Amino acid sequence: MSDNSLKQATIYVVATPIGNLEDISQRALRILSEVDFILSEDTRVTRKLLSSFNISGKKLISYQDYNEENKKDSILSKIKDESLYVALVSDAGTPCISDPGYRLIDTARTLGINVIPIPGPCAAVSLVSVSGLPSDRFTFVGFLSLKQSVRLNEFKLWSTGGSFLFYETAKRILKTLTEISSIIPECTVCVGKELTKYYETTLRSSISEILTTLKEMDQSSTLKGEFCVMVYVPPQVQTFNQEDIIEECKQRLQKESIKDILESFSKYPVSRKTLYKLLLDIKNNKI
Ligand code: SAM
Repeated sequence: MSDNSLKQATIYVVATPIGNLEDISQRALRILSEVDFILSEDTRVTRKLLSSFNISGKKLISYQDYNEENKKDSILSKIKDESLYVALVSDAGTPCISDPGYRLIDTARTLGINVIPIPGPCAAVSLVSVSGLPSDRFTFVGFLSLKQSVRLNEFKLWSTGGSFLFYETAKRILKTLTEISSIIPECTVCVGKELTKYYETTLRSSISEILTTLKEMDQSSTLKGEFCVMVYVPPQVQTFNQEDIIEECKQRLQKESIKDILESFSKYPVSRKTLYKLLLDIKNNKI
């Protein structure tokens, strides 16, 4: 191999296309052809990818999560002891980005195995690049929790402002964006559907407009495929000392009970307990 590795045991972490085969890099193809074997998330998927590029006869070993722990140590010892060159790939995109593999890389590093990135496609980064949303700083959260309470807490954290990015399925996207809209109605959203593929679509709009479009797609059975979502929340008031929150609470207290206002506490960038104390202070004329 002509890379910098100088016959040292090496794992190349190779990014592969997320839909369009033309996105594979020349370097990725060379590495995949030259390595001693390929550590693969799903050997059937990798075999298909290799055959698209006429790479045949490669030994593939699965490292999926369920067998990663069992196989990890013996595979890594072999790589180290025999100074092998190995590639690690996932089914699509950049390995270890919402994909398994990091534990293997972690142990490889501990053992002193060289680890080299072969950069390339990644759905999240692709979406950021075309979103036109503030991207000097963003938070990637991968797949959201399946537990609604955990998700809602996550969205409350976002409500103070910033750019957030997550992966989502066609089945859940409407529900997730409806939840976000109830907590952060003022956000702007960019949805990437089937990026780099035939039915590639990117939508960018206010969350209410995005929901309308996605509902129409759902009704026409076109809400299908793989999705990545970026949410931009304009910077919000950070603390309950802000005059506008206090003013709003004062006005609401003239017509509503503390209990009723607390029902909508998620609207405010403070915890329920903090809002309760604030409302009590207003009620008792301390503020
Ligand atoms: N490691 C991959 C990467 O670098 O993008 C991500 C793997 S993760 C298991 C798969 C998820 O990424 C999908 O469920 C979807 O949310 C998102 N994704 C993958 N390919 C996509 C595409 N072409 N367009 C939009 N989202 C995609």
